[in-house]
Amino acid sequence: MDYNHIPREPLGFFPTPLIELKRLSKVLGGPKIYMKRDDNTGLALGGNKTRKLEFILGDALAKGADTIITAGAIQSNHCRQTAAAAASLGMECHLVLGGEEPELASGNLLLDKLFGCHIHWAGANRKGEDIPRIVEQLTKQGKNVYVVPYGGSSERGALAFVEAFKELESQRQSMGISFTHIVFASSSGGTQAGLMLGNKIFNSPYQIVGINIDKGETDKVSFDQYTLALANSTAKLINTDYGFTASDLILNSDYVGEGYGVVGALENEAIAMTAQMEGILVDPVYTGRAMGGLIDMVRTGKIKESDSVLFWHTGGAPALFAYANELDLAKKTQ
Ligand SMILES: *Cc1c(COP(=O)(O)O)cnc(C)c1O
Repeated sequence: MDYNHIPREPLGFFPTPLIELKRLSKVLGGPKIYMKRDDNTGLALGGNKTRKLEFILGDALAKGADTIITAGAIQSNHCRQTAAAAASLGMECHLVLGGEEPELASGNLLLDKLFGCHIHWAGANRKGEDIPRIVEQLTKQGKNVYVVPYGGSSERGALAFVEAFKELESQRQSMGISFTHIVFASSSGGTQAGLMLGNKIFNSPYQIVGINIDKGETDKVSFDQYTLALANSTAKLINTDYGFTASDLILNSDYVGEGYGVVGALENEAIAMTAQMEGILVDPVYTGRAMGGLIDMVRTGKIKESDSVLFWHTGGAPALFAYANELDLAKKTQ
């Protein structure tokens, strides 16, 4: 493994804390539960994209870029962290957001605006379909534009989670603890591909369990293939020859519910329980759903009392403020 030659621009505060959630574990009558606090990566309210952006924007700067562009949903945490990173590096930032401009900017969108980025509303083109056209325009204006991949899930983005895995292993060893599972929200595949590769490189026996956030029946197959291919190409990027096949991938699709960004009873219970047992915020779109999945797996015995689970908190809390009407504020845990 060698990636010291791959450029990286410091953007966050690492290592993020690794803590034990004793009260949550107790209320579930279940396994040891630990949390990796990537909601505290330090860049503009944190999140997992900060790690990826260190490598992606390192590449952009090495290529002389002065302008970056990326895409996402209105409440994209990726776009918010990209906008903040661009501001800190003095780069011009363009965001291509799905949907129409709402009357009131809240949550992540409010922050995007504070960071002074240019927002392009894309209607139904939610996944950056408009990017090539905008890049052409900006290039004509003499700008050196770098496209940050959707969700930051390129090889460089995934590499950040090999590095994160190394960080986790050193914390785990110094705390004298062990894990059976790593559970996290999976959506554009970079976090999962990187953790899978880290798991192999460091010869760890953990089950790497991605909770599917948004893929339905039809796009799940291609997402599986994408994530596996990304793990393989990331292995090549750092000159290792690990190969991943379908049996290496665990993507649990039991909790997609009504689809991306739709808050149901599962998310509401997880948000209330994590807040009231631990004083920690999980978000309505990603970590609330993944935590809901973890809670359900404990209750249904898929994760056993003797197990030891690491929940990788990937951030997202700013979106809570945009979901005031969907959150169940009367929900009480015990
Ligand atoms: C982007 C994001 C994820 C998913 O990470 P991927 O690497 O895109 O799969 C999970 N949680 C939060 C809060 C995110 O913003």
